Amino acid sequence: MEAKINKRLVAGANMPAPDDNVLTNTQEAVYQALSRLGYSEPVYEVLKEPLRVLTVRIPVHMDDGHVEVFTGYRAQHNDAIGPMKGGIRFHPNVSLDEVKALSIWMSLKCGIFNLPYGGAKGGIICDPRTMSLGEQERLARGYVRAISQIVGPTKDIPAPDVYTNPQIMAWMYDEYSRIREYDSPGFITGKPIVLGGSQGRDQSTALGVCFCAREAAATQGRKLQDLRVMIQGFGNVGSNAALLLNEMGVKVIGISDANGGIYDENGLNVQELLDKRDSFGMVTNNFSHVMTNDEFLVQPCDILIPAALENQITAKNADKIQASIIVEAANGPTTPEADEILHEKGILLIPDVVGNAGGVTVSYFEWVQNNQGMYWTEEEVNQRLETMMVNSIQNILHTAKRYQVSTRMAAYMVGIKPFAEAIRWRGWV
Ligand code: GLU
Repeated sequence: MEAKINKRLVAGANMPAPDDNVLTNTQEAVYQALSRLGYSEPVYEVLKEPLRVLTVRIPVHMDDGHVEVFTGYRAQHNDAIGPMKGGIRFHPNVSLDEVKALSIWMSLKCGIFNLPYGGAKGGIICDPRTMSLGEQERLARGYVRAISQIVGPTKDIPAPDVYTNPQIMAWMYDEYSRIREYDSPGFITGKPIVLGGSQGRDQSTALGVCFCAREAAATQGRKLQDLRVMIQGFGNVGSNAALLLNEMGVKVIGISDANGGIYDENGLNVQELLDKRDSFGMVTNNFSHVMTNDEFLVQPCDILIPAALENQITAKNADKIQASIIVEAANGPTTPEADEILHEKGILLIPDVVGNAGGVTVSYFEWVQNNQGMYWTEEEVNQRLETMMVNSIQNILHTAKRYQVSTRMAAYMVGIKPFAEAIRWRGWV
């Protein structure tokens, strides 16, 4: 029966056409994964798009007296397994399709890591780099008021993402608790520790990236400490990954930010870079010799960690990448064409839905601690994270081998399967 369904799916008329759009690319991969697992067309129909998307417009009184109206989104992919979970990004390039794709990726992460959630994602089209703290606070509070009906500790739990941080989570938490008229720390994760945040949450995504790098190196029979690393992006994840890897005795030879990259084959002074970095991860403006991001990605190194935005490794540069391991710390940094090239070159790729899932995993721990009112030490958090990361990485590598597919396809297969099962049990298909 599976083979029959499979055949029908592969030949199915509803298969989306590939394109450069992150959403259609994601749908294509979900389709392929479900098809390989032998699920029927209706399963794809349910899972190809978020179940709910809310678009909101948020008027904000700016410091100069004028009112600016911002557009924001919250996409909720699927709630068959539990409440939905995912960050909120503040960025000028936020779009509806991007937020939808990001919500599907969140489901995959939850599926791979066995978290009792479905995926969600939020975004506001804005540039916080040009906004005062007061303007950011009014925007954050306005967004929570606008989406308050569809979020909550048992519905949808937001968290930080690109250009949002514990301060913004704290304002959102405060606003939500005021609307509901009771204290509600489980509404949002990535909070400051004093407001119920988890030990280790700040560095969790980066620590997860380090575990991935270590496991990938071991798979190739190498020791992480002998390898040279380049990191694209110096925001929360990129800068913490540089710090942690450096502390583990790994040489960080290149880092970049939105301006470009710096590279030194003898190793960069990570602490000096951290001291010079601003709150948006800009650091290269302190250096005279900065290469473009395109030049940067193809420099010699052993491990490349893209930790910036989507579509950075493309058909144009994939062939020239010299790393033998890529750990995706950003969401969606590699295009499907580039994926194929990297796979053919034999580069060991740890895909984003595994590579950066340390963040949502410790967000889950934060929510559990909020719900039980009992808090764990940083060692407990990091140990639990390590166990879950190692199991998930091994599961993906094993699945890739078993089905003879890329690690990306293996991640889609492992991540989507629980949702296909859950919607079947619930009688949705
Ligand atoms: N924004 C992060 C991500 O893309 C974290 C999400 C969360 O903690 O819920 O995985």
